[in-house]
Amino acid sequence: MKNRREFLKLTALTGGALLTQSACMPGETETSEDPGNQGNVSTAIQPIVISTWNHGIEANNAAWKVLSNGGNALDAVEQGVRVTESDPTNPSVGLGGAPDREGKVTLDACIMDHKNRCGAVAFLEHIENPISVARKVMEETEHVMLVGEGAFQFALEKGFEKTNLLTENSKKAWLNWLETSKYKPVINIENHDTIGLLAMDVEGNLSGACTTSGMAYKLRGRVGDSPIIGAGLFVDNEVGAACATGVGEAVIRIAGSAIVVELMRQGKSPQEACKEAVDRIIKKHDNVDNLQVGFIALNKQGEIGSYSVYSGFNFALKTENTEELTDAPYFIKHEESGD
Ligand code: ASP
Repeated sequence: MKNRREFLKLTALTGGALLTQSACMPGETETSEDPGNQGNVSTAIQPIVISTWNHGIEANNAAWKVLSNGGNALDAVEQGVRVTESDPTNPSVGLGGAPDREGKVTLDACIMDHKNRCGAVAFLEHIENPISVARKVMEETEHVMLVGEGAFQFALEKGFEKTNLLTENSKKAWLNWLETSKYKPVINIENHDTIGLLAMDVEGNLSGACTTSGMAYKLRGRVGDSPIIGAGLFVDNEVGAACATGVGEAVIRIAGSAIVVELMRQGKSPQEACKEAVDRIIKKHDNVDNLQVGFIALNKQGEIGSYSVYSGFNFALKTENTEELTDAPYFIKHEESGD
């Protein structure tokens, strides 16, 4: 988190537009291979990382280390979100995540690569880096998703350590919730902090990762969108990638990330696709009070986009020349209630 402010460039309401306005996409550079032939312009792919919320800045940096050394997008997305998972101060991902109603931290995560391979874990306890377990499910089993006790046993077999994920701070907050019993999620602050991270590597291949402790004080056994391929995350290397954050139930109802990718396939820009998915969520719910959802998307040309129901959602972007946190465009202005 250190020095974050030094390089934050908040660009309200621009979303992906800042990149799509450019004649040269961020995933491409115009280079003249032959100085004697000025008309001979070729393109070279440049890596790009985009992720949800402020914590995306640090995650992007870890992903960037992989990409800038010629590493692949799959390694980049895993390494990126592991940083957030292992940060005990983050109350909605991995270690230090808010527990369920019974005081147990249960984690959801998924990962997907350019070959449409995918892996997921849900309702996983005691493991600090569920994204790496999800990757093992993808690479070392014939399955896509493991949950609960089975996922935990699998993680132990693969050498992951049993860890207490409930920090003193998250325990205190949970005990306070039990006492007051009048907890209501605070929009954009609690319950909306999944890290979803999408990357394109130097080969132009796409991968994505999504990981969360889910809704604070959820019913025991509740699983949201984040570990569900097509809801919290979707990657199609021919088209693009998308991921979601916010109220998972609403994202699942519209198969959110898959829809964003399909809209891009039909020719929409990443931002148009995110906007249409959010619009669909709003139309499918009678009441969107407190229902925040945000999407980010990256297409095969290296264009990015984002959109959210309410103001307050932001995303972090990293390319060779850019490191910024941008406020996503939105449908409804969120007024602080002051409660
Ligand atoms: N989407 C997550 C879930 O519903 C919550 C979040 O984004 O923080 O579990």
